[in-house]
Amino acid sequence: LPKIGNEPNLHYKPDSPERIALVAELKAMEAAAPYYVPAFVNGKEVPASGPQSSQPMPHKHASTLATFSTSSPELTSEAIESALAAKSDWENMPFSDRAAIFLKAADLVSGKYRAKICAATMLGQGKNAWQAEIDAAAELADFLRFGAQQVEQLYTMQPPENAPGVWNRVEYRALEGFVFAVTPFNFTAIGGNLVAVPALVGNVVLWKPSPTATYASWLVFQILLEAGLPKNVIQFLPCPNGDDTIKLVDRAISHKYFAGLHFTGSTHVFKSLWKSIAQNMDKYLSYPRMVGETGGKNWQLVHPSADVRAAAIQAIRGAFEYQGQKCSALARLYVPRSLWEAKGGFQDILIEEINKIAQGPVDAFENFMGPVISQFSYDKCISYIEKAKAAGGEVIVGGTGDDSTGFYVKPTVIVTKDPRSVTMVEEIFGPVLTTYVYEDEDFEKTCTLIDTTTDYALTGCIFSTDRAATVKANNLLRNASGMFYINDKCTGAVVGQQPFGGARGSGTNDKAGSMSIFMRFVQARSIKETF
Ligand code: GLU
Repeated sequence: LPKIGNEPNLHYKPDSPERIALVAELKAMEAAAPYYVPAFVNGKEVPASGPQSSQPMPHKHASTLATFSTSSPELTSEAIESALAAKSDWENMPFSDRAAIFLKAADLVSGKYRAKICAATMLGQGKNAWQAEIDAAAELADFLRFGAQQVEQLYTMQPPENAPGVWNRVEYRALEGFVFAVTPFNFTAIGGNLVAVPALVGNVVLWKPSPTATYASWLVFQILLEAGLPKNVIQFLPCPNGDDTIKLVDRAISHKYFAGLHFTGSTHVFKSLWKSIAQNMDKYLSYPRMVGETGGKNWQLVHPSADVRAAAIQAIRGAFEYQGQKCSALARLYVPRSLWEAKGGFQDILIEEINKIAQGPVDAFENFMGPVISQFSYDKCISYIEKAKAAGGEVIVGGTGDDSTGFYVKPTVIVTKDPRSVTMVEEIFGPVLTTYVYEDEDFEKTCTLIDTTTDYALTGCIFSTDRAATVKANNLLRNASGMFYINDKCTGAVVGQQPFGGARGSGTNDKAGSMSIFMRFVQARSIKETF
């Protein structure tokens, strides 16, 4: 494969070519909205029929970005049969040809369609330009390019020994059946990656995108087709949440050739899918591979030796970039009393800096924060803030919202005296950060507290200049997160640099953006040849 590296982030400075292109794209996209997002099954778009659902723009929910139809169980069956029929040609295509498709798609993402895919992610998922850039342009391109490289690496993993006259080798073949990808709203890149990973190793895929990210997902799918993906390899099945999705999912996971689930979403949904799949076990030819990245209640631990300003600023970024809607977002903050209460200390910096945050429409470039994704999410955030207050939590910043035009929840910090209170334990997926102030001498106890507060274990970070304390925290918290950041925020994993995934209730920890995820979607076949 050609040499690859991380796609550099563009900066969108005023009057920069990328800013000018993005502004033009945003205008054009809005003017022509709403777009119809069809299902794509058996090599063609399925014409609109039946009731339509819509994907509003979260920053001004009276406007619709896209409408989409409901993929019925019958259509799902057709998609499965069409994918299975395409399988043999796809898996037998030489790897370099499969890889070339994804490398070309990466170039289309980072080149010709960069402004378009960023604009769709901004208008549809409520990201500002910089958040859209790191997701839909850079991370998506990285997933596709590094993915190809990681598969190449996987294929070279061969037994180290051959007896005289014997050649041992391992082939990594596609799974026998199809992979079902259920993808989230919060990263356009994750949608692309969840389908690209199984497809790169020769699998055929059914793609059910999030209803709140249908348009950006559709653009990614079209880019893959333009890059040369054979039309039946991925079948695209939009569907509104609720009963219709349940029927679609039931159809997919009842099939004899259901071979794997590639999922990012809530812990609750992943567990219920797993239970249904277990119920269906006798229907399958093979044990399905279960790969999921699910919820989080991510933490930041500040040691008394920490650089206070760095720790406070990174807490703000971790908690409030993209309105706290990254799976990795900071939700629980633990600060020693000495740093918290000092004049000009942690609390003061937090309040002062958060009060400076501009929030508003995603297409106004001065806004650091935008809306949460939906009314449901808005209501959930507000209700958790109320629950925290009722339980004695003190709101020191934010605490309110305004959903009259867009779903805006203010960046909110709650200080709790009860480290196991509801907003310390339950995932909110919004800009609500709960802080517990611990006594300086209780550092070790605080590590144990963090470890035992929730069943989530996605990301965590420590700010400390004391190496012994850092080592202690790393040991005591070894199972409390799949990602551990030292002197950095708990978000922002980069493909090819920090393999991403969590343990416990946060996922199967198969590490997106690394070679290990590909091993879950292949059948390894050992071949011994004697001469
Ligand atoms: N990769 C992202 C990060 O490290 C989070 C991905 C997610 O939200 O699932 O911030």
